[in-house]
Amino acid sequence: MRVLVLGAGFGGLELTTRLSEEFGDGVEIVLIDQRDAFVFGFSKLDVMFGRALPASVRHPYRDLVKPGVRFVQATVRSIDPLVKRVETDAGAFGCDILVVALGADLDPAATPGLAEAGHDFYSVDGAFAARDVLQSFDGGRVIIGVLSTPFKCPPAPSETALMLHDQLVKRGLRERSEISLVMNFGRPIPPSPEASELLEGAFAERGIAWHPRREVCELDPSTRTAKLRDGGEMQFDLFLAVPVHRAPAVVLESTMAVDGWIPVNPLTLETTFDGVYAVGDVAAVGTPRAGVFAEGQAAVAAEHIAARIKGETSDAEYGGRGVCYLEMGDGQIALVDVTFFGDKRVGQLVGPSEAYVQDKIEFGSSRIKRWFGSEWKAT
Ligand SMILES: Cc1cc2nc3c(=O)[nH]c(=O)nc-3n(C[C@H](O)[C@H](O)[C@H](O)COP(=O)(O)OP(=O)(O)OC[C@H]3O[C@@H](n4cnc5c(N)ncnc54)[C@H](O)[C@@H]3O)c2cc1C
Repeated sequence: MRVLVLGAGFGGLELTTRLSEEFGDGVEIVLIDQRDAFVFGFSKLDVMFGRALPASVRHPYRDLVKPGVRFVQATVRSIDPLVKRVETDAGAFGCDILVVALGADLDPAATPGLAEAGHDFYSVDGAFAARDVLQSFDGGRVIIGVLSTPFKCPPAPSETALMLHDQLVKRGLRERSEISLVMNFGRPIPPSPEASELLEGAFAERGIAWHPRREVCELDPSTRTAKLRDGGEMQFDLFLAVPVHRAPAVVLESTMAVDGWIPVNPLTLETTFDGVYAVGDVAAVGTPRAGVFAEGQAAVAAEHIAARIKGETSDAEYGGRGVCYLEMGDGQIALVDVTFFGDKRVGQLVGPSEAYVQDKIEFGSSRIKRWFGSEWKAT
């Protein structure tokens, strides 16, 4: 029995860990990823704002030693879900059960002028490079622009605005800077009116200009102008971008994608192909794209896969719940407990408080302990 897991991010790592815990060496699990290390989404912001060094937030896959699991660093080139076979640049792999956990890719080229005039802070490389860009920034007009929806971690652009405010204050540059946040959402965190209100209040207090329901579609590098879909224009000295999100090309080129993402049964994470599951950002589950949701989906998919391996059935159902940490700046963190499933869209706010700083550290450490078996302390 071989389970092939494509993508060693939040979803792939959680699913692999659960199957290894249940079956040990009894089942062969092959985990494939193109990268050599895992990095949490929130660590990108820690590096970007100088709270952590790049080397301290990378978790090399070579450290992943789990019974039954073999990690292969390779790029997946094609997926045939009918026969459950994938081609990679390290050869072809067949399997009995296939899990696609390839996440969402970023497409900076989809926005004219972005490569020349803006900075992506959503990829690992982009966020690490943004650290130097921010260090050498001397004040001016900053736009944080979300260039498409859906996008990963809806709170992250708001967190970025607040963290940027703190950094500019600390460097004595805030007086001569403007921060604008442009996002095609009505409120910063749509399922949570309380969290949205908290953020909108924090923006107002700090003089951060919030532009809801607007989207930048082009940058003009010569005049440093951002063009918006509604015909408006905004000037900038620094453009920090959340690039257009897409499913990875290998998924779009397969027969699995419908309307850009992989349709699944949202309760079981099964695709329309027998023995093929999809979890996390690549799957059209209906939840926001975030690690905590990918993890919850992986847990349910693992139960169904385990039952299948044992010749049984499982009644585990995914419920769309995730608890997100929200960096409010000034050393404060709030918690948003979101359930986003079908018609149920609620988000309860707890905090903000300094007490959740420790909680967030433990959130990261506990995952690294479970997934990699190693000790780690996020900043
Ligand atoms: C700035 C920022 C902050 C964030 N903060 C949070 C947060 O605080 N909490 C939270 O829950 N979420 C957060 N997120 C979102 C979170 O990172 C993602 O939603 C989560 O990682 C999705 O998990 P996944 O398993 O679906 O995909 P990913 O974790 O993206 O994993 C997909 C994997 O597939 C691999 N892959 C893709 N294509 C190929 C291919 N062709 N061949 C081989 N490998 C491939 C990739 O290398 C990657 O490792 C944040 C994201 C960002 C950008």
